Amino acid sequence: MNSFRADLHCHSTCSDGMLTPQELIELAKKIGLSALSITDHDTIDAYPIAIPLAQQHGITLIPGVEFSTVLEETSIHILGYGMALDNPDLLDLCHKHKNRRQARNQAILDLLTKHGMPLTLDDVFTSSPSINHQGKGSIGRPHIALAMVAKGYVADVKEAFTKYIAENKPCYSQGVLFSVEETIDIIHSAGGVAVIAHPHLIKNNHLVNLLLQMPFDGIECYYWKCHPHQNERWLKIAKHKNLLITGGSDFHGDIKPNLELGSSWIGEEHFNALQRALQH
Ligand code: AMP
Ligand code: ZN
Ligand code: FE
Ligand code: FE
Repeated sequence: MNSFRADLHCHSTCSDGMLTPQELIELAKKIGLSALSITDHDTIDAYPIAIPLAQQHGITLIPGVEFSTVLEETSIHILGYGMALDNPDLLDLCHKHKNRRQARNQAILDLLTKHGMPLTLDDVFTSSPSINHQGKGSIGRPHIALAMVAKGYVADVKEAFTKYIAENKPCYSQGVLFSVEETIDIIHSAGGVAVIAHPHLIKNNHLVNLLLQMPFDGIECYYWKCHPHQNERWLKIAKHKNLLITGGSDFHGDIKPNLELGSSWIGEEHFNALQRALQH
């Protein structure tokens, strides 16, 4: 039996995942994954640590990132794979996202304070020590949610999002985001491929149609929370448009229960197609 499995979507402590890059690689090894991509939000900071560890453990590690973008005021996530990690355009975009997040996170903290839930960046660091120790990576809403739980403002992360910091809730701030087109361009200029992340979460068909007219290279067709009939829809589109078929768990650790590492994956055929696309 061919037991090849590649999980191409997960998050480390360099963004809002709960495991360090080292722990992720060790877990990937333990559960028998053949290949992995760490796709932190808007940062590639996991890679200097992850690359030698993956080599040591015999796991094929594909450079990856999950960029936040906006299309008609809706947040769209784009996965990038196989970029040269020292590409100046890629590093510049990550740096711009870091600045965006700083301003955006402060705006959310100010809104929470205005709504009677005083919260500072120090409180956020206290409840997520991994981001404080690193001084790098991406700080995001899940870290703010954890600080809200620690302060007793909400019972859990889910409540923080559904009542206050999810899109369109009273304490949400998006900040200045980057367009889908410019993000695809930068992934391409860094030699990578651009993939539509978890397309089943884009509920607006008009936006799906716009995205499908853009120069994407692939679609994330396999995703744990995706019902099989949803997989079929994206597989059909990917095959029809001759796009790469990717998949992954979107594992974050305990902060997002029920999305285990390796719970979604692609097999050797789709993985080899991705590798071939990256060689061109
Ligand atoms: P940010 O990039 O800072 O805007 O945070 C986005 C991340 O927050 C997502 O990748 C998820 O991990 C998490 N997230 C978004 N919406 C929710 C929600 N409703 N409940 C729990 N986590 C969420
Ligand atoms: Zn996340
Ligand atoms: Fe995402
Ligand atoms: Fe993700």
